[in-house]
Amino acid sequence: MATKRTRRTRNQVAGVTPEAVGHFREAMARQDRYLACMTGEIRCIDERQRCAECLEYLEHVRALKRELRLRPWEPDPLTDDCPAREELMRRSR
Ligand SMILES: [Zn+2]
Repeated sequence: MATKRTRRTRNQVAGVTPEAVGHFREAMARQDRYLACMTGEIRCIDERQRCAECLEYLEHVRALKRELRLRPWEPDPLTDDCPAREELMRRSR
């Protein structure tokens, strides 16, 4: 008998909620600017006074990590390859 339940081809990564996907998408949209600030191509005024784009980027990364239950010092899926990144990329398309 056919079932309506969709079978998952891989294990769902814990914490990849719609909220997490939203934060990932928002952070991705600001990542180029953030990296440009970090490498000095563009600069925030100074390290304690980041530009609005950087602050938003960092806020989304923080929220995303909270959602994924990652510790602050653990690598984030924005800059590191991890199962969560793969899942987030797939779901944010
Ligand atoms: Zn900046």
